[in-house]
Amino acid sequence: MTNNDNLFKHQEELWSDWRWQIAHRITTTEELHNWINVTEREEQSIQKSVGKYRWSITPYYASLMDKNDEMCPIRRQAVPSLEEFEYFPNAEVDPVGDQLYRKTNRVVHKYPDRVMMLVTQSCSVYCRHCTRKYHTTDLSGSYFGDSETLSFEEDFDYIASQPAIRDVLLSGGDPLMYSDQKLEFIISRLRQIPHVEIIRIGTRFPVLLPQRITPELCAMLEKYHPIWLNTHFNHPKEITEEAAKACDQLFRHGIPVQNQTVLLKDLNDDLPTMRALLTGLLKIRVRPYYLYHCDNVTGVSHFATTIEKGRELMKGLLGHMTGFAVPQYIITTKLGKIPLWEESLHLNNDGYSIENYEGKTAELIF
Ligand code: SF4
Repeated sequence: MTNNDNLFKHQEELWSDWRWQIAHRITTTEELHNWINVTEREEQSIQKSVGKYRWSITPYYASLMDKNDEMCPIRRQAVPSLEEFEYFPNAEVDPVGDQLYRKTNRVVHKYPDRVMMLVTQSCSVYCRHCTRKYHTTDLSGSYFGDSETLSFEEDFDYIASQPAIRDVLLSGGDPLMYSDQKLEFIISRLRQIPHVEIIRIGTRFPVLLPQRITPELCAMLEKYHPIWLNTHFNHPKEITEEAAKACDQLFRHGIPVQNQTVLLKDLNDDLPTMRALLTGLLKIRVRPYYLYHCDNVTGVSHFATTIEKGRELMKGLLGHMTGFAVPQYIITTKLGKIPLWEESLHLNNDGYSIENYEGKTAELIF
């Protein structure tokens, strides 16, 4: 083997190492210039973000960006934009009501039989459209305050004290930011609670840094079945060989992978893109199950399309594709997730009122 071969092998090994990728995330304009031709607007946006919004991009995700096209769907999801600072009168930092239903530092209990544990506020890439932008990306935000390092005991105790809870979703931030050991600590403790039947992990790692899905991680998760994994592909460009391999590894360890997509204006809200995304997911055996209407979140509202456009798009999917390729079109409200079906939508003067599974109504004002 020549010196060049050795060097190449070493570089390949580094590229496949998720810890190396995390340590080498792009966080400055200078570093970003190594990947794309950063436009003046992007530079201004990055400058404006200082002290307000975090941003970071894994080298892997950056490698998917179009060098010259500012409208590249990968770029738009990862590079800050001036629109994040625009004022939208009805935008809120927490339109989905996480804070209303928070029972402990990390546990959000919104539905009778399931809870979400916000285990961290960190992510590998800070997606510009994040619903929990206040918690993850906003430097003045965070649901935790300075308490991310608090013990998990209070959270486990709460779940153990509520026999109706049969399903725990680990979310964040991204739970896979934690080491396998820390994740195993959390999952093994949940497994000791007899009424917890299933554990779900909400993570964007298969999309943003598929190298994180290692054989060691999968072998650890397999010990605690039933484990489900929900991920978040938004565009066909994200369905790469590496992403497919990550999902395949999870399947081989008995972990089903499902996808939730956020409907994003001028990024995936046209029929050809959405069809390519959904059929692409089937090819890697990932089942699409939710298409989220983009929440009216402060700093995110510019990504929202109209409900009419979303419903029109759904008409172009239903019946035109394999049944299970078509996700449910959903909006998350303070009353929980509500499917945007004809029956639950009522047009009124300001927008829509929608009805949840209990017949309670929420107002949608955009
Ligand atoms: S990885 Fe998930 S939680 Fe983190 S910024 Fe992206 S969408 Fe938000």
